[in-house]
Amino acid sequence: MRYNLHTHSFYCGHGSGRIDEYAEEAQRNGFEVLGFSEHCPFPDGLLSRSRMPYSSMAQYEADVRNERRPFDILLGYEVDYFRRFDGYYESLRNRVDYLIGGTHFIFRPDGTMSSVFDGNLSASDLSIYADTTIKAMESGFFSFYAHPDAFLSSYQFNSEARAVSIAIIEASIGLSIPLEINGNGYLRKRGYPSREFWELAAERDVPAILSSDAHRTQDLAAPFSGLREFAADLGISILCPSSLHPLSFRKEQGK
Ligand SMILES: [Zn+2]
Ligand SMILES: [Zn+2]
Repeated sequence: MRYNLHTHSFYCGHGSGRIDEYAEEAQRNGFEVLGFSEHCPFPDGLLSRSRMPYSSMAQYEADVRNERRPFDILLGYEVDYFRRFDGYYESLRNRVDYLIGGTHFIFRPDGTMSSVFDGNLSASDLSIYADTTIKAMESGFFSFYAHPDAFLSSYQFNSEARAVSIAIIEASIGLSIPLEINGNGYLRKRGYPSREFWELAAERDVPAILSSDAHRTQDLAAPFSGLREFAADLGISILCPSSLHPLSFRKEQGK
């Protein structure tokens, strides 16, 4: 099944392409499902540099809802999880089709923060990453978890990284929340998807899905053949949607 549930656009401010241009690209590539998952803004402007203004949400949602194609289009958000916003996530989830979790930042007890992607994370940052990610998965808001191995874009794989990887993988299995093998990291060779992480995941038969995490229309379909090869090579069986409302997954047949 050809589908992608992790798609950005010009709305996020660091991507390009309109909603209809992604839909056109999906149609050209024979997709059966296209899900939009812009970085979710917060009512108080938290993390506003990496996402659309809160005031643009209605326009984004209308754009996606108004896009009609001979295949399914879903409306979603990719969300950084903070427990104090539980009420907000609840109302979002009632309004859109699905939410993806993703840990893009770590917040330290001393009040400082770092991007997971360019952060020079320390070993103690790593445990914050694991804690943030696992609490997000436990919240029950998310249909799957994006780039769970993103911390390896700025951290050398060692025994701490191994322990964090296993903790996240076991949470995914225990909670039945699929982990994503991420096409944006794959295309940009950013250190994820990490072979070490996904070897551990494969050994434990983690539920896994592929997404492109496209921020440009030309990246919507581009990573999938490579991602499939990556997964097949490690013996990871891939999920595809079994229902869209609500979104749920099943193993792909004969793969
Ligand atoms: Zn982004
Ligand atoms: Zn992300």
